[in-house]
Amino acid sequence: MKRLAILGSTGSIGTQALDVVRALPGHFQVLALSGGRNLDLLQRQVQEFRPLLAYTPVDAAAADLRAAGARVVPPEEMAAHPEVDLVVMAIAGSPSLHPTLAAARAGKPVALASKEALVMAGAVVTREAREHGAQLLPVDSEHSAVWQCLQGEKGGGEVSRVFLTASGGAFRDHTPEQLRRVTPEEALRHPTWRMGKKVTIDSATLMNKGLEVIEAHWLFGLSFDKIEVVMHRESIVHSLVEFVDGSLKAQLGMPDMRLPIQYALTHPLRLANLNLPRLDIAQLGRLTFGQVDMGRYPCLRLALEAAQTGGTCPAVLNAADEVAVERFLAGEIAFLDIPRFVEGALVRHNPVANPDLETILEADAWARSVVREEMRC
Ligand code: MG
Repeated sequence: MKRLAILGSTGSIGTQALDVVRALPGHFQVLALSGGRNLDLLQRQVQEFRPLLAYTPVDAAAADLRAAGARVVPPEEMAAHPEVDLVVMAIAGSPSLHPTLAAARAGKPVALASKEALVMAGAVVTREAREHGAQLLPVDSEHSAVWQCLQGEKGGGEVSRVFLTASGGAFRDHTPEQLRRVTPEEALRHPTWRMGKKVTIDSATLMNKGLEVIEAHWLFGLSFDKIEVVMHRESIVHSLVEFVDGSLKAQLGMPDMRLPIQYALTHPLRLANLNLPRLDIAQLGRLTFGQVDMGRYPCLRLALEAAQTGGTCPAVLNAADEVAVERFLAGEIAFLDIPRFVEGALVRHNPVANPDLETILEADAWARSVVREEMRC
């Protein structure tokens, strides 16, 4: 029995992780659950799984969790708890950084769904993980694919390139004129994946793919010139690895996040889960690949530039994007304003090389205030 702390249990990844736990009885014990503001769902999860520890940011709701038998502790404490065998990090966005660091410092393996922790502070997080012997296990479908392709290989110098696949998001066939008027509701209709709101909007701008390039750099220790993005509308090939001999390996499957979640939870084992959909390769007929039209996706260009500059730039990129996406979802700015505000913050930023955690958090706060200020003008 692997004892799990699921942080972000009421979000898209968290609920699907609990689906995996339900589908594989006898393999996991849920020791800790940390939810967001969906209190009803968190309460139901606590009733069902009876965790030792639980957390909600809403003070008034803590009493209900205690009444259900859970001790209420913050996510950082859960992540480092001596009885936890594996931390599932599914907190959306930058709030995932501190609990991820806490898990790394405690030497806990982390099934990492929150790419933002690595985008903001990849050098710090990977150093802490290395020093304390904590493994970072990819959950993001592209990174899970790369990880699976690397199984049985020497890795390192034998990898010549990694191709991260991109569906192109909700507006891949829109004209520039149509893009001007798209609504949050339209942007949330992803053509192939069912995911949380922030990542779905980031998929429509392709910011998500840019963040994933940075995530891959830190997870696999690859230089940026070895990471490429390729269009693949069907979301069946989840990514590919090219080796020095020219051989390519790919991982395929239906676009269902439960599969990469389960792989991170059961690794190095694979377990049969009858709830997961099977890919009918003959029925599928064909798969398509193509180049990304960079002019169409300014957010991807900005992310790749921030990645190359490094230092505090990825943290500024991430913070500016979080604020811009939040305002777009609230109907306060247009879709095409998202890259405009992100670029505004990056242009005004003086990057700091090799930043420590404090400097990263300062850059994050600076970028948020700059974007909010510009939105008021
Ligand atoms: Mg992904």
